[in-house]
Amino acid sequence: MKTRTAMKTITTHYVDGEFVESHGREVMEIISPTDGQVIGRVTLGDEEDARRAIAAAKHAFSTYGRSTTEERAKLLRRLHEAASARIEDLTAVMVEEYGGVVQFARLIVESGVNAFAAAEQALKEIPWTRRWDKTTVTLEPVGVAGLITAWNANALFICLKLASAVAAGCTVVIKPSEMSSLQTRILVEALHEAGLPKGVLNVVTGLGTTVAAELVRNPDVNKISFTGSVAVGENIMRDGAATMKRVTLELGGKSPTVLLDDAALDKAIPSALVMAFMNSGQACAAGTRLLVPKSRLDEVKNAICQAMHAFTVGDPADPKTGVGPMVSQKQYDRVQSYIRKGIDEGAEVLVGGEGRPQGFEAGYFVKPTVFVNVTNDMTIAREEIFGPVLSVIAYDSENEAIRIANDSKYGLHAAVLGTDLARARRVASQLRAGRVVINNMTDDPQAPWGGFKYSGVGREYGRYGIEAFLEPKAVLE
Ligand code: NAD
Repeated sequence: MKTRTAMKTITTHYVDGEFVESHGREVMEIISPTDGQVIGRVTLGDEEDARRAIAAAKHAFSTYGRSTTEERAKLLRRLHEAASARIEDLTAVMVEEYGGVVQFARLIVESGVNAFAAAEQALKEIPWTRRWDKTTVTLEPVGVAGLITAWNANALFICLKLASAVAAGCTVVIKPSEMSSLQTRILVEALHEAGLPKGVLNVVTGLGTTVAAELVRNPDVNKISFTGSVAVGENIMRDGAATMKRVTLELGGKSPTVLLDDAALDKAIPSALVMAFMNSGQACAAGTRLLVPKSRLDEVKNAICQAMHAFTVGDPADPKTGVGPMVSQKQYDRVQSYIRKGIDEGAEVLVGGEGRPQGFEAGYFVKPTVFVNVTNDMTIAREEIFGPVLSVIAYDSENEAIRIANDSKYGLHAAVLGTDLARARRVASQLRAGRVVINNMTDDPQAPWGGFKYSGVGREYGRYGIEAFLEPKAVLE
């Protein structure tokens, strides 16, 4: 694995257009998931840092909230240019800080950078003003927005939420994941170069229970856009109610991949495994339940064993690596406990299993694991594991496949794999998920992203993402 660069120390936040020393004094170590070594230290902000950032955003909103869509489009273009210039650095730091596999880390960074261009395009499609008779309806920015992100694609979430907020005319205070401090620092340095009006963008790194809780509580914050776990999402909805916060919540998933009986396994199985193991399984949209017709189960098992060779565990910086380490000891323990539970509840390990893969004793590496003989009531089929663990569940009929797919508290993402497209579309139309992909993991920055049921509230991306930061206002003569 690569030799280590110098220890990094971060002591500042970004408030009112400049990097300022933290008021909070607590220091957190940044640990490399690849070998468990300390690679940096970050000084965490506190409630006072959050309040200073909120005050700056509130002040800036008094002018930026009245900006024209042309002015906002220009800023989005500058943000796009500024972030584009640091794609290499952002990719490298994701690999270093959370052990993201380089191929996937780059895709995440690129889609983050593209979010600014996509928002500029979407801006043009929004009906900002509508008039009839003596009524005029305008779409107004909701105000100061608190943006709270998860660690697993922190740069993407920051860019996506910031792009939508800037397009809507909102000012923001970002509370990035505390586990993404190195990534955030490089991204904010890049965004600083875009020269936004002072106070439009503010970033305070700290813990959820201090900095983010202040954003949720503070009456000067009008909206929270959150990406993270269901448990924290529930807190935000409850605590935000006291100040009538608008909320967008992007939460977890237990996404089904429905393999139809006419699927070509040489393509479908690699595709299903990519969906299960993307970002080393640490992805909200990971297709972690593979629903397979009973009649083809043996063939599927063989195809999985063969296709697993592409998902080798290794150094995340190596482009040939398919699965990197888990982000932390906690995440490693969590994955191990689910693998244990799967075995205890009677599922059969087809590939992988408990413990570290041979030769990877230092970091938080786990074995990519596929369980067969899983029923949809088992814990490994119901709960989000957030690691490379796939549950194969057999079904008898198409209707049963749809029933099992929808039998989940989640509804973020789903996939249908099959040769007859009309049939695949028919099945897709019956799945209760915010997004369904047919035959491949694919993306469209203008298509909405978000979940049914416990997977969240509201949508991001393109026009839908911008609308989440707007309020309609009617003037009647
Ligand atoms: P998490 O909920 O632990 O943390 C997310 C953010 O919330 C962090 O910035 C954290 O500091 C903050 N936070 C923690 N406690 C808080 C509190 N009491 N009040 C306010 N904020 C608080 O989640 P995580 O471990 O960072 O991310 C993994 C989770 O995120 C998974 O469940 C995953 O599915 C979900 N996720 C969802 C999407 C999506 O688009 N739907 C995308 C990525 C991740």
